[in-house]
Amino acid sequence: MEEMYDIIIIGGGPGGLSAGIYAMRAALKTVLVERAAQGGQMTLSDEVDNYPGIEHITGMELAMKFSQHAQAYGLEMISDEVEEVDPGLEHHEVRLAGGRILKGHAIILATGGSPRKLGIPGEDEYYGKGVSYCAVCDGFFFKGKTVTVVGGGDTATEEALYLAKLAKQVYLVHRRDALRASKLLQKRVMDECKIEILWNTVATAIKADDQGVDRVDLEDTQSGEKRELPTDGAFIFVGFDPNNKLVPAGVKMNADGYVVTDEKCETNMPGIYVIGDLREKYARQIVVAAADGCTAALAAAHYVETKKASEVCELPQDLLAEIQ
Ligand code: NAP
Repeated sequence: MEEMYDIIIIGGGPGGLSAGIYAMRAALKTVLVERAAQGGQMTLSDEVDNYPGIEHITGMELAMKFSQHAQAYGLEMISDEVEEVDPGLEHHEVRLAGGRILKGHAIILATGGSPRKLGIPGEDEYYGKGVSYCAVCDGFFFKGKTVTVVGGGDTATEEALYLAKLAKQVYLVHRRDALRASKLLQKRVMDECKIEILWNTVATAIKADDQGVDRVDLEDTQSGEKRELPTDGAFIFVGFDPNNKLVPAGVKMNADGYVVTDEKCETNMPGIYVIGDLREKYARQIVVAAADGCTAALAAAHYVETKKASEVCELPQDLLAEIQ
């Protein structure tokens, strides 16, 4: 079964949903495909304190608001996994795991990124048995226990603060002597008495007994000293990688796998737009993803209207006269 759309949006995070809102307001036949829950990575954030106009909200609540807003404009949403994006000269095609093939004049890719792994022994083996990449999802299991957080960015500090509300003790293991996180988050972490920062330290292995994770092997990056840190859980937040599996061959990416676009979020392939965390950019924030969604939808609307108008102009004169 093949269906024709003006715009196909892939990914239901803040970028994709914002694009959906703007595309529907431009009266374009639009569909959004998302394989999991609407909201993307923001659903994993316990607290969102920097979305303009909303001083404080949970990531899940903000995701619901985005989704409800898009639904209020009648955005069609398909819950399925996209297997392939196949660009074409006349139209582009999107093949879904469930067998459907969607045709679109324009495609907006908003597939975001995934947590990066440390790549140390025990990380894969004990995933779900004490190793986690989401404090909001798994923090509850560590109530009154000791946990170790690895990383020094915004995510690691935010998640450490979240875990400090539940755990007895939080160790924040960071490989340097200064955090990468924003000054505000740095201050909050320093002020939280349950968090102890282990500077210039890397985790080299995660170990477990039959109950799950019970210790992390650490190494001091300056002295080379090794030690074991007893812990009940290891939370890893060392950045993330772009989800670029669906980016068609020929679309320009940078050395880190982020897609290069122009100021309209359009790639070097006409009618293919990339927004949010998958796009090469300076700041990876919810508000920036939302802004990308707006930009791409408005640019795609212009592209689709121009494309349709030129197709009409190419019709034979007698048919044109009939339409007019
Ligand atoms: P990030 O900013 O790239 O930070 C990754 C952290 O992990 C860095 O401290 C890095 O250390 C450390 N790291 C990386 N590889 C490591 C390794 N192999 N071993 C040990 N440590 C390692 O990633 P993020 O914190 O996930 O944030 C990603 C983006 O999302 C950022 O732009 C961030 O601002 C944004 N974000 C914003 C918010 C917010 O504003 N509320 C919340 C979450 C994320 P070094 O510092 O030494 O490089």
